[in-house]
Amino acid sequence: MKVGILALQGDFEAHAKMLARLGVEPRFVRTVAELTGLAALVLPGGESTTHLKFLREEGLWDPIRQFAESGGALLGTCAGAILLAREVKNPSQESLGLADLTVVRNAYGRQLASEIRFGPTKLRAGPLQMVFIRAPIIERVGPGVEVLAECDGRPVLVRDGRVLAATFHPELTDDPTVHEAFLKLARNGS
Ligand code: GLN
Repeated sequence: MKVGILALQGDFEAHAKMLARLGVEPRFVRTVAELTGLAALVLPGGESTTHLKFLREEGLWDPIRQFAESGGALLGTCAGAILLAREVKNPSQESLGLADLTVVRNAYGRQLASEIRFGPTKLRAGPLQMVFIRAPIIERVGPGVEVLAECDGRPVLVRDGRVLAATFHPELTDDPTVHEAFLKLARNGS
């Protein structure tokens, strides 16, 4: 199975290391041609406004939407989750709209500028370690969206069909749980 990581900006290297640990040699995606043949694509954290600019410049916007429509699995972390959401606030900005979510950027304020927390997850027993860096808040989840992890009573990891969105950075911990779930989703579709 071929897994890509969007490598225009942000912490794509950390995702590559985590996937390599799980036995997957990922392909960095910077052009439309590099999407060919992928079963799954990671949209990493970084700065969503910068991502938007580069996605437009590289002509990747519509091809990524088509990739999702044709059954490709997506994992978006932090800025990546912002790109995937249907609606983005604070301020409002364009997004791919591939997950039925409303997210509020930088919503924790300085209090959660960069912090490690723990929260319950459906993916396994025991709390999940979560690294938040200028994270968005998921303000609304659509009726078809499954909440897979919470922190302080808020959804922080969700699944909408073949799309996984995390407001934290699972690639910055030692715990492969989220990436394992993503690979399973890409392989089996659930
Ligand atoms: N604050 C960034 C944004 O709004 C996201 C931060 C991150 O990905 N760690 O795009």
